[in-house]
Amino acid sequence: MSTQLTPILTKFWDHPTSWTLETYEANGGYAGLRKALQTEQADLVQMAKDSGLRGRGGAGFPTGLKWSFLPPPDGGPRYLVVNADEAEPGTCKDIPLLLAAPQFLIEGMIITSFAIGCNHAFIYLRGEVAHVHRRVQRAIAEAYAAGYLGKDILGTGYDLDITLHSGAGAYICGEETALLDSLEGRRGQPRLKPPFPAVAGLYARPTVVNNVESIASIAPIAANGADWFAGMGTEKSQGFGIFSLSGHVTRPGQYEAPLGITLRELLDMAGGIREGHQLKFWTPGGSSTPLFTDQHLDVPLDFESVAAEGSMLGTRALQIFDETTSVVRAVSRWTDFYAHESCGKCTPCREGTYWLKQIMHRLEEGRGSQDDIDKLVDICDNILGRAFCALGDGATSPITSAVQYFREEFEAGMHTPASELFPPERSMLF
Ligand code: NAD
Repeated sequence: MSTQLTPILTKFWDHPTSWTLETYEANGGYAGLRKALQTEQADLVQMAKDSGLRGRGGAGFPTGLKWSFLPPPDGGPRYLVVNADEAEPGTCKDIPLLLAAPQFLIEGMIITSFAIGCNHAFIYLRGEVAHVHRRVQRAIAEAYAAGYLGKDILGTGYDLDITLHSGAGAYICGEETALLDSLEGRRGQPRLKPPFPAVAGLYARPTVVNNVESIASIAPIAANGADWFAGMGTEKSQGFGIFSLSGHVTRPGQYEAPLGITLRELLDMAGGIREGHQLKFWTPGGSSTPLFTDQHLDVPLDFESVAAEGSMLGTRALQIFDETTSVVRAVSRWTDFYAHESCGKCTPCREGTYWLKQIMHRLEEGRGSQDDIDKLVDICDNILGRAFCALGDGATSPITSAVQYFREEFEAGMHTPASELFPPERSMLF
């Protein structure tokens, strides 16, 4: 496996006008669309399948397979909805991509929409990022002006409109069916699945919901071919992805690399852990994936290898913490987040995250009781697999893994506040 970075979606982020259509075209942009518009729709779906691309939003579901689940055309509308509600703590790849090079997404959306027979596509953008909204809106306008969007795209007779919609800041609206409810103008809460959106999605019509990075990756795949993409990464986790490194690392940022790269290799490129400190724990895929420790530095960051070690590749949000960090305090902040963001629809998540928060606060403040740790793990067991959507499961992951690896810190929470054991000013985080 190559340890080189593969700058593809991140290739010209440093260019002073990286976000313009002019810069995008100067770097080969829209070559994939020109090829795709000359290709049969079924062959484009097959291209996505052959590339091995798996959803970059976290779950890793095969992208081409998802497209192939759409029922045959019945004359009614079919939709593409891009999930740009990036909100998982630590996840920071879609928003930077939209800021730096939004045309990748727009080209990928046109190719995907053409492949699935869609004439109206949507981008659901996280509500808090007004500056990104402006940038994407401008990119859409540039694509219309150049004839890549609207009626009779590049003289092929194919029509496509893109609507950009901003959410209102609810984490649950990143769950695909809550997102669809929100886009339809309702309060965003997850729907029962099945039916999956592929069968009954936006306005109960067949809908492909894909993450920003997944759809953006379609543009270079269409330009370079499925084999090019499938030739990178590992046997079952093909291609490249954007890894976002944050926390106690010398050069935090986005590192685009083939799947299967290790944290050790990524740290080599990111200047290592901040000087004079050692790695203590990290998240491989955002705060809803079980924690890893310094034992996991050489785990290949692909879907299978990370799962084999008891965690999930998720969104490749590598949050890195050194020995100055209290794991109890870090997990407590994430638990606050999940309790605050629980949509309240199902009891295990609504009540469970509230109880978890109370216990985590007691342990953080050195007021824990003898049975608090067992109670924490028991509540997690009762949420896991019983919540309506992935939010509840995600809330339990950092807690159970932290207890597994750092039980003594939780036990210390029966008598000593985390702020005494790990003075916050030494950590600079949490
Ligand atoms: P999921 O496994 O239920 O579904 C993944 C995708 O595959 C969905 O689009 C779903 O519709 C589709 N799918 C699955 N089975 C299908 C079938 N039989 N027919 C048709 N389509 C099918 O996962 P999920 O609940 O959508 O997502 C969970 C993931 O989200 C977590 O792994 C987490 O990493 C990630 N996440 C990401 C963020 C972020 O900010 N990017 C935030 C929170 C969570």
